[in-house]
Amino acid sequence: MKVLCVLYDDPKNGMPKSYPLANLPKIEVYPDGMTLPSPKGRDFSPGELLGCVSGELGLRKFLEDAGHTLVVTSDKDGTGCQADKEIVDADVVISQPFFPYYLTKERMQSAPNLKMAITAGIGSDHVDLAAAIERKIDVVEVTYCNSRSVAEHIVMMILSLVRDYHNQHQIVNSGGWNIADAVSRSYDVEGMHVGTVAAGRIGIDALRKMKPFDVHLHYFDRHRLPAAVEEELNLTFHETVESMIKICDVVTINCPLHPETEDLFNHEMIGKMKTGAYIINTARGKICNREAIADALKTGKLAGYAGDVWFPQPAPNDHVWRTMPNHGMTPHTSGTSLSAQARYADGVREILECFLEDRAIRDEYLIVKDGALAGMGAHSYSEGSATSGSEEAANYKK
Ligand code: NDP
Repeated sequence: MKVLCVLYDDPKNGMPKSYPLANLPKIEVYPDGMTLPSPKGRDFSPGELLGCVSGELGLRKFLEDAGHTLVVTSDKDGTGCQADKEIVDADVVISQPFFPYYLTKERMQSAPNLKMAITAGIGSDHVDLAAAIERKIDVVEVTYCNSRSVAEHIVMMILSLVRDYHNQHQIVNSGGWNIADAVSRSYDVEGMHVGTVAAGRIGIDALRKMKPFDVHLHYFDRHRLPAAVEEELNLTFHETVESMIKICDVVTINCPLHPETEDLFNHEMIGKMKTGAYIINTARGKICNREAIADALKTGKLAGYAGDVWFPQPAPNDHVWRTMPNHGMTPHTSGTSLSAQARYADGVREILECFLEDRAIRDEYLIVKDGALAGMGAHSYSEGSATSGSEEAANYKK
């Protein structure tokens, strides 16, 4: 069997010789009782860089000892890229949402042996799900592996945007002490209305983490949460996104990208928001309209925008979100902390072990199975594709 694994580049100065922390905290189960990935073996130390090319998700020894071929590359975009050359005889493709190998219909057509696409992380929108269904290519992801990592990032971004941390940090870095400049956009979050679009694993965790800040919490989702959870967090449920965004000071977006959510935050939707609101989008870049966000920051309709997701990825060097005012963007990092990497590397190995031993892959990990949406996919996604326009990723120059 041949496994093609597309990972982001190594650090510019090579792999770290040491890491800040000697050990990672031990986490046994996720909040809903789901167990962490539990492969039979592991060939890495938790806390090492695993998501880059030399990290290889810790898979090489395991696969090669069993007689399989592993090809790892970061060359994934543009005509003639390495990944396109390797996919033609690959059985399995592994890719991370942070640096996705966009598995378009054309790429699937060039890969007659392809049986499974594994997302080393959460969010399989980089795969044309309609084409995978048609071709009967299974799509799986490591549900929950980095949901709480993202929720931490959301809290960081809400606080840093509302308090205007980036500007203040910049003033210090440039040798200044201009306090009036530093605080002219700085507020407390206490008392604000904070709402999430989708209250799944990330959305609910972000609400729970924001609760101690004494804010008013809101959510919109296709399914209502149990009454006990609404009561615990004093949540206001909204039947529509519009009803929530018109009263929220901070809106965090936590739904998957699929045809239903693509371009959800366009000019029209943003026009309905409270003037001076903040958006935090760590879900997927394409849920927000690129120009609408930049325009809203320029006019002051939005006071700030932060997130770590772009479209496509890597974002072209001239992507307007790199230079728009009052943004707090990071590259796509929230779900690939060293802590999260250990969990999703374990998850990928568990999935491969199941696949090779013909054992069932956990239902929670399934997005497409045997030509139909399945497991989490049947619950959270719709059939279709959100990959159009991904060729633009080739415009990024290192
Ligand atoms: P979950 O599956 O736990 O939650 C997704 C939630 O989105 C579900 O509650 C689902 O609702 C809801 N949803 C689906 N479609 C809609 C819609 N049209 N409108 C409103 N809600 C909708 O996933 P996670 O919380 O773990 O992750 C969510 C997303 O976050 C991922 O799909 C991924 O895109 C992104 N992500 C980003 C990461 C990063 O590094 N930045 C890392 C991990 C995830 P219901 O179940 O009620 O149908």
